[in-house]
Amino acid sequence: MPIQTSVVNKDTRFRDIIVETIGPEIFDCYQCSKCSAGCPVSFSMDILPHQMIRSVLFNQQEKVLAANTIWTCASCETCTTRCPNDIDIAKVMDVLRQLQQESGRPSTVPKVSQFHAAFLGAIQKNGRVHELSMMQDFSLKSGDLKEKLKTGGWKNDVKLGLKMFLRGKLKLLPHKCRAVADVRKIFNQAKEHKKA
Ligand code: SF4
Ligand code: SF4
Repeated sequence: MPIQTSVVNKDTRFRDIIVETIGPEIFDCYQCSKCSAGCPVSFSMDILPHQMIRSVLFNQQEKVLAANTIWTCASCETCTTRCPNDIDIAKVMDVLRQLQQESGRPSTVPKVSQFHAAFLGAIQKNGRVHELSMMQDFSLKSGDLKEKLKTGGWKNDVKLGLKMFLRGKLKLLPHKCRAVADVRKIFNQAKEHKKA
């Protein structure tokens, strides 16, 4: 397929950040679509994984960061496993999620990006996820609690939470993992790397 030069952004800074993390093999993408064909949630994506790779290579930052694809992606890594050119598409999605959050742009799927932030916050705090406090953080910051109090949706959450608790799947208090200091070090290193 001939490249439509009108859609290629010549400022390569966006693409360079991704290439630096993923590796130069991303340039080997020949648009076979095997990644998209195997993706279990492609039906709900506005831009398919192979199209995302092409858009990244074209430096289409606005389009890529506005896509719901980065938040719909379930990080299952099927695409990465299927790619004949060893392109880590799942990792591309990870980098894009991070870039979207750092950009300060409102997410097109705010609840998913807020959940993502709550999840990472929980890992940073205890080195592992404590479901109750993570959900509390998410519900308050995303406005989910307010919404559910209005609609009565909280009742389903309580029922589910109780069921999980009775089966030993929910702990009332958080427990720090033994290597929490190492986990926090990773977060700090990531922050330092971003500043550099
Ligand atoms: S499977 Fe790999 S080569 Fe094929 S379109 Fe996807 S990223 Fe490109
Ligand atoms: S990692 Fe994301 S993009 Fe790749 S197959 Fe899984 S859900 Fe689809």
